[in-house]
Amino acid sequence: MDLDLVFLGTAGSMPSAQRNPAALLVRRGGDRLLFDCGEGTQRQLLRSTVGLVELQQIFITHFHADHVLGLPGMFKTFALRGRELPLEVYGPRGLVDLLASLKRVVGRLSYEVRVNEVEPGDVLERDGYRLATFAVAHAVSSLGWALIEATRAGRFDVERADALGVPNGPERGALQRGEAVTLSDGRSVAPDDVLGPSRPGRKIVMTGDTAPSEQIVEAAWGGDVLVTEATFSEEERERARETRHQTAAQAAELAFGALQRGGVTYGSPITSSGSVMASIASCACSTDDSGTDTVTESSSPSAISASMPAERRISWISSASATSPATAT
Ligand SMILES: [Zn+2]
Repeated sequence: MDLDLVFLGTAGSMPSAQRNPAALLVRRGGDRLLFDCGEGTQRQLLRSTVGLVELQQIFITHFHADHVLGLPGMFKTFALRGRELPLEVYGPRGLVDLLASLKRVVGRLSYEVRVNEVEPGDVLERDGYRLATFAVAHAVSSLGWALIEATRAGRFDVERADALGVPNGPERGALQRGEAVTLSDGRSVAPDDVLGPSRPGRKIVMTGDTAPSEQIVEAAWGGDVLVTEATFSEEERERARETRHQTAAQAAELAFGALQRGGVTYGSPITSSGSVMASIASCACSTDDSGTDTVTESSSPSAISASMPAERRISWISSASATSPATAT
């Protein structure tokens, strides 16, 4: 199952000529999950290879302008296109008020917007994964989000299936789904006969704005990717502390602390103007891949997908063994 991240916006506080405010699209199989929707997000999608698809779920970390100003414009565009599909929006307490106040801006919509307020510790179950929320340390009502996959079936051993005489057809699909099959000669083949050891799921953790915190380390513990924001450079550490943000160095420390053996990079030039997001990716621990990925927003969102195919997943991580509050619920 493909799982990747498209960084649509990596600027903090305000856009720059090269960067959009926060927005991150997570693509898993056919699911398209948008996390935060800073100003200009719909245009970033239009410019990307993804396109402005009929998103069905949007997840908000908090209500500062650089994380939500893209919502009304996107809502309106969907309506102008005659959308009928309902849209689910999830966010921390206050989301109902926020969207109610946007009604005057948005006007009448051709579809239903379903508003879901969630608390730290809530978990949304999905097919093959769950979305767990955790507390972050920002100045307003805020949430972090963790996408945690279920344990996945082992790899299908084609040679073994051939040797056992399993025909190319629905029998192989059944075995892959964990069902035993009976062949035409009466022999029975069990899933364990053709599947390798089960594989742990992957885990992506997104914090939005935050000061460094132990809770984030716990939530991201054992994760494959941590996306966290740095708003200030190291010289402005005191200002970061006062405003409950973090510096780029603190964001990197956070990722090192949480991801342990993960190869970590953050790929944003640091400026004191506030346009910084440390996109910290750890995809580098499998035996056949010792490099690191640098994930940055470019002028072309189509070029910023940080692909994380299954074979690059970190073998020592098990989301089931993580001790974070996000996975304990
Ligand atoms: Zn903020």
